[in-house]
Amino acid sequence: MKITGQNFLGSQRSGKGDRRFSAINPETSTKLSPDFLEASEEEVHTAIVKAHEAFKEYRQIDGLRRAEFLECIADEIENLGGDLIQRCCAETGLPEARITGERARTTNQLRLFSSVLREGSWVQARIDTGDPSRTPIPKPDLRNMQIALGPVGIFGASNFPLAFSVAGGDTASALAAGCTVVIKAHWAHPGTSEMIGSAILKAIQECAMPDGTFSMVHGKSVDVGMAIVNHPNIKAIGFTGSFAGGKAIFDAAARRTEPIPVYAEMGSVNPVFILPGAMRSRGNEIASGLASSISLGVGQFCTNPGVVITEGTELSENFYGELANNIAGIEAGIMLTDAIHKAYDEKRNKLMHEPGVKELARGRSSVKSGEGEVALFQVNSVEFLENNHLEEEVFGPSSLMVSGNTKEDLLSVASKIGGHLTASVFAEEDELEDYRDLILLLEQKVGRLIINGFPTGVEVSHAMNHGGPFPATTNDRTTSVGTTAMYRFTRPVCYQNFPDRLLPEELKEKNPRNIWRLLDGEWTR
Ligand code: NAP
Repeated sequence: MKITGQNFLGSQRSGKGDRRFSAINPETSTKLSPDFLEASEEEVHTAIVKAHEAFKEYRQIDGLRRAEFLECIADEIENLGGDLIQRCCAETGLPEARITGERARTTNQLRLFSSVLREGSWVQARIDTGDPSRTPIPKPDLRNMQIALGPVGIFGASNFPLAFSVAGGDTASALAAGCTVVIKAHWAHPGTSEMIGSAILKAIQECAMPDGTFSMVHGKSVDVGMAIVNHPNIKAIGFTGSFAGGKAIFDAAARRTEPIPVYAEMGSVNPVFILPGAMRSRGNEIASGLASSISLGVGQFCTNPGVVITEGTELSENFYGELANNIAGIEAGIMLTDAIHKAYDEKRNKLMHEPGVKELARGRSSVKSGEGEVALFQVNSVEFLENNHLEEEVFGPSSLMVSGNTKEDLLSVASKIGGHLTASVFAEEDELEDYRDLILLLEQKVGRLIINGFPTGVEVSHAMNHGGPFPATTNDRTTSVGTTAMYRFTRPVCYQNFPDRLLPEELKEKNPRNIWRLLDGEWTR
C-alpha cells in the first residue's frame, strides 16, 4: 500500500498544513519516507465538523450493523498483510513476533466489541412500568438506557502502535458505543497509522457508514492535539501516554466553556509486594519472573513493575542477589523513540542519585544508540516514605526494590503510595489471611489486584479493569481495556411516558432485541 503522508478528513485526503515531519527507524536512526503533513487548524476543524454531522446518523445505526462494521475493520486490518507488519516494525523497532501478536490483539478486540453489540444487553436497559391508577400521584412509565456521547477525540499511544493506536481500544470502544472518532495519530508511527486509517475508511465504505465516522490527523506539535481538545463539537477524549501530556489535556478540557470528560491513562509503577513466605519458598522462581516482567518490551508498558516491596533483611538480600543475577544477563533493547530513550536515561540517572538509592544491577550494556539497559535499584522503606520522587514512573526497563523490615513497613508503604493501575502480592496461601489488611489498603489504590502474578499482560475481556485512581488516570471510575470501556463514551437517558413506537428498540415493550433488562427490579429477557 502506498503511504501518502496526508490526513484523512473523513474519506477525503488532505495535506494543507505547512509543517512536515517524518518517521524515524529507531534501530537505524534513519528517516522513513514519505514526509507527513501536520494537520492545520482548518483541517482539524473540518474533520471534527464531519464527525459532528456523521454522528447524527451513526448514533442511530442499529447495533447489529455497527457490529458488522467493527468486524469489517478487523478483516481489513488483516488484509493489509505483511506490509503492515513490516512498516510497523520499521517505525517502532519492535520485533515482528510482538507486532504480529499485537495485530491479533487489535483485531480480537474489535471482534469482542462486535460480540457485545450483537448480544445487545450492554445498553443497560431499565424499565419501571408506569401505573396511572396509583394514588395519590400516578406512577410514570420510565425507561432508561445508555446512549452515545458524541464525537470523541483520541490520542494514539506510542507504545502500542496497533492495540492502543488508530484502531485500538479507545477507537473500538467509541465506535462500538455509537460515537464518531477523530484520532491524532502518534508521530512515532505515522505510516502504520495511515495504513490502519485506510483500513477503517475501507470498512466505512463497505458497510455504508456515514462519511466522517472516522478521521485521522497527524501532528508533531501540541497544537494539533489541543485543537481537538478545545473544539466545541468534541464530547470526550481518550488518551494514553505521559502524566504531563494527560494532565495538560485534562486541564484544557476542564477550562472549556463546556468541560468534557478526559479518560487519560498516564502510567503507573505497579507496586509488587513480595511476602516473606513466598520469598522463602520460591524466591528464585519469583526473581526470574520479575526480571522478565521488568524487561518485557524494553519496559515500555504502563504495567511495568517499577516498585517492588519486600519484607525481612536477610530474605530480601538473597532475593535481590538472585534478581540481580537474572538482570545482569538481559540484553539492552531498542526503545520506541529517541525521545523516550533520552527520557529513560535521564529519569534513571535521576533515580540513581536520589538519597538512599543504590544501584543493585544493570543489564548488558547497550551496543547501539537508542537501546535501553535494564536497571535495578534499591532503597529502604524509610527513605522511600520520605521521598515522593521515588514513586514516579521511569518509563523503561527499570525497577526500584524497597526493603522493609516488618509487616508494618509494608503497610506504611501501601498507605503512602498514590493511585496506580495495578498492585501485585506474592504470598503463600496461609500468608494471605495474615496480610488481609495489606490487600484492603491496596484495593483503595489500584484498578487491578493480582495474587502471585506480574502486572504485565493485560487481558482484553469483559471483566478486565485497566484504570486506577489519580495519578494513574484522570478518571478511576472506568477502564481503557475490556468491554466496559464503552461506558466512557455513553451516558444514560431516561424516557418518561414514551409511546412504544418512539422508543429505541432496546426499550420497546416486546423486547425485540431479546436483551437482558431490569424490568420492575428483576432481570428478565
Ligand atoms: P506523550 O508525550 O504523553 O504524548 C502522547 C500524545 O499526547 C502525543 O500525541 C502528544 O503529542 C500528545 N501530547 C502530549 N502532551 C500534550 C499536550 N501538552 N497537549 C496536547 N497534546 C499533548 O507520550 P509519548 O510521546 O508516547 O511518550 C513520552 C513519555 O510518555 C514516555 O517517555 C513515557 O514516560 C510516557 N508514556 C507512558 C505510557 C504509559 O502507558 N504509561 C505510554 C506511553 C508513554 P505531541 O507529541 O505531538 O506533543
